[in-house]
Amino acid sequence: MNDYKLLVDLHKQGHRQGPGGDAETEQALNLAMADRTAPLKIADIGCGTGASTLLLARLLNAARITAMDFLQDFLDVLKETAENMGVADRISTLACSMDNLPFADKELDVIWSEGAIYNIGFEKGVADWRRYLKAGGLLVASEITWITDSRPTELQNHWDSEYPEIDVASAKIMVLEKHGYSPVGYFVLPERCWLDQYYRPLQARFEDFLNRNGNSEEARAIVAAEQREIGLYETYKAHVSYGVYVAKKLG
Ligand code: SAH
Repeated sequence: MNDYKLLVDLHKQGHRQGPGGDAETEQALNLAMADRTAPLKIADIGCGTGASTLLLARLLNAARITAMDFLQDFLDVLKETAENMGVADRISTLACSMDNLPFADKELDVIWSEGAIYNIGFEKGVADWRRYLKAGGLLVASEITWITDSRPTELQNHWDSEYPEIDVASAKIMVLEKHGYSPVGYFVLPERCWLDQYYRPLQARFEDFLNRNGNSEEARAIVAAEQREIGLYETYKAHVSYGVYVAKKLG
């Protein structure tokens, strides 16, 4: 089994594949001040199994949402949940890469992306996706963010090698401004979005995951890497979180 297969196997049973929460998705929607009765065209980029997609579909009765991810297995889970929840008629799924989206220029009212834009880098995502938004359209993206102005060397070194674009919120907001957006709002995901709503449920699946996969070296390596990431978060959570950024396309 390749690593993606194993990662899918570990993550597809999770409600979320990254830190977040339904209350925080709704908070971002409130910040965006989107018209909840309008027939908005929305893309949820890097949607995973669709925690945010499904909530948006429930909160926005008239919206049409394209749930997009490059892992079809996640989209299959999303589709089944959408059918069970009775919102499948307003969601279509799209398996492709976020650096090669098939949307037309100015097609979308809202681009939503939780815990995923880092895969191509925040600045590239913000710059490249802008063309798909109508003027006045909204970008809502969560992004790993420093929440203090200095931090311990171990943590700094870890992120400098994992994701050098990590920065403070003011720098992220400047990126939005530089690329033709007007910032509308920002908030920090609280600790429960990491621990109660992501890491603890993930840890609870480790044992079954290892058993299903014959306790293979690859499976154990994945669990060990997740545990290291969790340990790092627990030690340094005063310094790092996800910021949720809401911005409007200008011009
Ligand atoms: N938004 C979901 C999932 C976040 S995890 C949530 O908050 O729960 C990041 C997601 O991005 C994963 O589902 C992963 O499959 C997807 N992803 C990673 N790289 C991608 C790429 N290049 N194109 C499309 N999706 C990608």
